[in-house]
Amino acid sequence: MNRIKYVAARWLATTVSRLQSPDLSQVGTRVLMFHDINTDDSSYDMYSLPLSRFDSGLRVIAQWAVEHSRSFVEFSAVPRPGIAVTFDDGYKSTLTLAAPIFASLNIPFHIFLTQSYVEGVDKRFLRPTDIRELCSIPGISFGVHGVSHQRLTNLNPDQVRVEIQQSRDWLEQLVGKPVTSLSYPHGEFNSTVSNLAGECGVLSAACSRVGTFTNVKEALQIPRIDIWAHDQQHVFLQKTLGAWDRLLP
Ligand SMILES: [Zn+2]
Repeated sequence: MNRIKYVAARWLATTVSRLQSPDLSQVGTRVLMFHDINTDDSSYDMYSLPLSRFDSGLRVIAQWAVEHSRSFVEFSAVPRPGIAVTFDDGYKSTLTLAAPIFASLNIPFHIFLTQSYVEGVDKRFLRPTDIRELCSIPGISFGVHGVSHQRLTNLNPDQVRVEIQQSRDWLEQLVGKPVTSLSYPHGEFNSTVSNLAGECGVLSAACSRVGTFTNVKEALQIPRIDIWAHDQQHVFLQKTLGAWDRLLP
């Protein structure tokens, strides 16, 4: 979405939320999707949110939730009314910047880890010791995001099984708990891929389709809403409640 379309969408979302206040968090789980957070305001990566904006945006949602008796819920295979928070890829900022904010607000969150990133040399990503540290923080849970972050739709069935099973076995070993959730790398999946995920024991799988998780039959294609670096704090709340659902590509 380019700048002009974004500004038009924001204007429309603001108008829509003033007119009808969608609040889809009361009919199902609104799953938020984050990636990275930074303390460097010169970053232009739309998937890396400035810390101050992330912090203030999340506090706006938390305040709204208190005022409207809504809950933050764990990401799971069962849709429950409320708001769930997920992070993809396993950036180090999930531990150093996000975890303290979630702990202070008592909000659970779920991290989808890519094995090759954790085992690689790129310092932006969590290391195994970081993940063990995250395990000790209440409310944090984990899922897999593949071995190599390849689009599963480009792979044959045997390769898809390896991506899911190998990363799951690795993560279970690391966190010492069963791992039953997956985020499709690049959000890409089709019926073959989701069936294979189910055969591999995945109970809940998140994609990048926008929407509200309301039906347990969608557990292997759970919709989410992406929060971007340039989203202002009121946009965090608009996206959480559903005002952007029809505006996003
Ligand atoms: Zn990813």
